[in-house]
Amino acid sequence: MDEKLSFFKDGIRLDGRRPGELRPVKIEAGVLKRADGSCYIEMGGNKVIAAVYGPREVHPRHLQKVSRAIVRYRYNMASFSVEERKRPGPDRRSHEVSKVSREALEPVILTHYFPRSVIDIFVEILQADAGTRTAGINAASVALADAGVPMKCLVSSCAAGKVDGQIILDPMKDEDNFGEGDMPLAMTPDGEVTLLQADGRFTVEETREALETARKGCEQIYEIQKKALIDRYSRLEEPEEEGSNV
Ligand code: ADP
Repeated sequence: MDEKLSFFKDGIRLDGRRPGELRPVKIEAGVLKRADGSCYIEMGGNKVIAAVYGPREVHPRHLQKVSRAIVRYRYNMASFSVEERKRPGPDRRSHEVSKVSREALEPVILTHYFPRSVIDIFVEILQADAGTRTAGINAASVALADAGVPMKCLVSSCAAGKVDGQIILDPMKDEDNFGEGDMPLAMTPDGEVTLLQADGRFTVEETREALETARKGCEQIYEIQKKALIDRYSRLEEPEEEGSNV
């Protein structure tokens, strides 16, 4: 008998998904009262909140750009978000994720409308289960739109992975930890790629397949992001209740 752990049983993944299937995605816009824009997302076991402030004055002032707004993105994993307590505060990984996530969103933000100002994006990972950077980008994109920040379009993000030599969509924790590769992607609805990373080993053919798999995932997420914003604005038409978050 083969003792090796298999990621598939009868072609179905350990969590019951088919290879090209996303985990359940739930998105709600406008969940925080004090932020200019906000969003809560669940992507499988990931639970993430994004808050957007601005455009507002830049502090410290020497960071100002005369011709455009700067964008800051802070990705933070709560110490209770992972199995073993994570040491609080920034580390190398969170700096890297913050940088690539900012770069994934910056190209769609019309920063030149707001010279000398800043748009601050805060992403808090409350529960992590692989794919937190992609969940954060999806939430941040909706939160920016919720804040009324002028953008060319939304950005949608998800990863493809490789397990047992097969390309899968949206790896969960065990697939990410024990699989052979992970490829997060972020893109605009018309197919402009704003983030592409890859861990592990992919052949050229597998790289093509992984890109196409992740692209299809992004398309599905885009529809859910749009729906979250439409739901948010239809809520706004109703009279606001005392103490409501809206
Ligand atoms: P992403 O969350 O974007 O997939 P990684 O590939 O770096 O980013 O991380 C994969 C998963 O590993 C995370 O979603 C999380 O579940 C887990 N993880 C990351 N950093 C830590 C940490 N410091 N402690 C425990 N688990 C972690």
